[in-house]
Amino acid sequence: MPITNAEIAEVFDRLAALVEIEGDSPFKVRAYQRAARTITSLPVELSQMVQETADLRAVKGIGEQIAAKIHEIVTTGQMQSYERKKAALPEGVLTILEVPGIGPKTAYRIATDLGVTTVDELERALADGRVAALPRMGEKATESILQTLQTRGAKGKRLPVSLTLPIAEQVIAALRERCPSLKTLAPAGSLRRFEETVGDIDLMGTSDDPEKVLDAFADLPLVSEVLVHGPKKASVLVKGMQIDLRIVPEDQFGSLMQYFTGSREHNIQLRELAVRKGLSINEYGITHVDTGEMVAFSDEASLYSYLDLQYIPPELRQGLDEIDLARQGAIPHLIEEADLLGDLHAHTDQSDGRDPLEAMIQAARERGLQYIAITDHSRSSTIANGLNEDRLRHHVQHIRELDSLLPDIKVLAGSEVDIRADGTMDYSDEILADLDFVVGSVHSAMEQDKAAMTRRVVRAMENPRVDVIGHLTCRLLGHRHPTNADVEVVLQAALRTGTAVEINCLPHRLDIKDTHARRARDLGVPMIISTDSHKFEDYSQARLGIGIARRAWCEPKHVLNTLPLEGFLASIKGHKRR
Ligand SMILES: [Zn+2]
Ligand SMILES: [Zn+2]
Repeated sequence: MPITNAEIAEVFDRLAALVEIEGDSPFKVRAYQRAARTITSLPVELSQMVQETADLRAVKGIGEQIAAKIHEIVTTGQMQSYERKKAALPEGVLTILEVPGIGPKTAYRIATDLGVTTVDELERALADGRVAALPRMGEKATESILQTLQTRGAKGKRLPVSLTLPIAEQVIAALRERCPSLKTLAPAGSLRRFEETVGDIDLMGTSDDPEKVLDAFADLPLVSEVLVHGPKKASVLVKGMQIDLRIVPEDQFGSLMQYFTGSREHNIQLRELAVRKGLSINEYGITHVDTGEMVAFSDEASLYSYLDLQYIPPELRQGLDEIDLARQGAIPHLIEEADLLGDLHAHTDQSDGRDPLEAMIQAARERGLQYIAITDHSRSSTIANGLNEDRLRHHVQHIRELDSLLPDIKVLAGSEVDIRADGTMDYSDEILADLDFVVGSVHSAMEQDKAAMTRRVVRAMENPRVDVIGHLTCRLLGHRHPTNADVEVVLQAALRTGTAVEINCLPHRLDIKDTHARRARDLGVPMIISTDSHKFEDYSQARLGIGIARRAWCEPKHVLNTLPLEGFLASIKGHKRR
């Protein structure tokens, strides 16, 4: 098996960590991290490119040195410089690095100063305060790491929903291709509820020939190991994830889907409600306790309706107050991807995006968007090739020229402007005033304490030119904790200043998260779902932000970019005190 892009990216990620531990130049660290990101997003396999002797340097973001390393790992299966560094590491560092929330230097100290080599030992060192005593750690950070460790499933890692979804889709597509007899096939469980992380994937299907489908499932080339292979159910491993497939007759599908979608808390409440009606629910149907008569359901809506409940979308099945609200008929019509008419955060190759302006606009038109904002980085983001005033002026001019040629889409000339450590913006007010749209984002000094970080973001919101705050908490799933910003105070300030808050759809960000979005919704803070696209394919990540918004009970009216252009502009500009 040739080495995959994901595996190569992993090596670069680790190499970056090891270089950081050695204290080498931060530019080198970032170059490797960037290489990892570039490689992950490539549409072609590098092993194939090497085989076809394609010039890797033709790939944007891959320079001579990186290309040589890729060539080495593809042809020999190893990268010598990485292997050498790895061999020199104290035992345990790499294991500890796998744990989300722990950076390279801290992992190194935990292994060397505390002699920790396994995850179990780490859990003890976190619990008894030894890790908290290390520099740059503290109690809050250790507590959340401990929490992450304790929520890992019995089989190990939980993956972010954004990574799990494509795995499920790949398996579904592969199985559909092999089994024309397959009727329905869809994910259930935490993936369908769009939980932030997913422990394993549950797939539910209907077919007249279940055994044939289950055989084909176990035989998929994607499958690395078959765990269970029965007449109605099979479990396999794909990319380290357990995937369970259940096949039932069509007339039971609704019950099955409802049962395995959960959540556990939701289903417990539903069962309690049923008991009060003299009914009992299981995965096959609803039984009348007195007569023993069982009713099967082919779809979930009729199951909920049998219990005198409105249909409850999976994202809302959290075991909160959704059943009560369904009884009152108060479940709202949640936002859907098709409701989004614009995208307000996109980068081009003028800063750290991959594609030129023209390609980004063309792809947005093809998606049927009515408007987009091009928001390349501001001057202080040197790592992201941010634009100085001169380059910005030319870029804006170019955007406006193209915009004037395109009747079917409005292209707003914007910028993702750094919020500096003191809360001032990275461009002058005069320059901001000339832009059609301004995303204000924190990209530096992320370790500020709560008071400083909160003040910083609030100050940015108080700037009348800042339309929306990008990725408010700056978390990177599995890699970086959220900043110390007090989200409640920031949301209150958003309300007061009329600044929108972004739901950033980048798979490793998903920022703000569902509970914050719910709070924003309840407060009446305007939200914008933005893809933060760095290449044209990224527009399709909008569905991730939609998942968050749905878990937050958002209707189209809670999200500004569901409005047509005129309404959107009136709303965003009207909200701010200008
Ligand atoms: Zn950003
Ligand atoms: Zn961005």
